[in-house]
Amino acid sequence: MSKAEDLVKNVSEKVEKNETATEELARIQLESARLQKKLLEADLEAKELEQQERQFNLKDLKGRLADRQLKEVQAQQKREAQGRTFAQEETTDRVNFAACSHRKGGIVSPRDMRALTRGGDEDQYSVIKHQMINGDIWVRCLRCRKTWTPPVKSNFYFRDGKVVAPKDGVFSQEKFDAAVAEYKRAVQFPTRNVMSGSVQCRFFTVNEAGQEIDGAAQYRENVKDSNLR
Ligand SMILES: [Zn+2]
Repeated sequence: MSKAEDLVKNVSEKVEKNETATEELARIQLESARLQKKLLEADLEAKELEQQERQFNLKDLKGRLADRQLKEVQAQQKREAQGRTFAQEETTDRVNFAACSHRKGGIVSPRDMRALTRGGDEDQYSVIKHQMINGDIWVRCLRCRKTWTPPVKSNFYFRDGKVVAPKDGVFSQEKFDAAVAEYKRAVQFPTRNVMSGSVQCRFFTVNEAGQEIDGAAQYRENVKDSNLR
């Protein structure tokens, strides 16, 4: 082979090699670009899923908040309804208590049974008397179910004519005295019914200084909202 031929061959090999390297580079670049595209697509999908998850979470949260709001409204309505029922019962009781003579006797017919709830016209009272564990006498009318118990001062605080907690109202000595007088009268109601009783106990409590003191007032405070219905 001549020198010239040798040169031509070398050059042509080099060109061929160069072309292959260029192609390889292009292929690698292409592959790299495809890979990058795939990564970008995966990244995008992940972001879309995250976005979707956030939306679902938000929807859940909104749903829970709406549920809770609904429950609160329902609870409020229930409390108001119960309040109205209690108020109605109290009004009905007050009317019945005031209308009742608390006495035995009276005539009951299928057409007129009022004597059963409004009391009769005998001298004897239709009441039971029960001596509580602390010695207090509680009196209950068998017709209208009114119960007389020793009045407790904390039940005589008023605001706008309504009984309220002592911290919210003003004490009415007049109403308290009237209740005491009425209770004393009730204890004296003449009746042939024999007073029932229970074991008698004395109650003690401990004051702030740690001394044992009489607990009669504390006992009455604890049972002040009970009755013999
Ligand atoms: Zn009565």
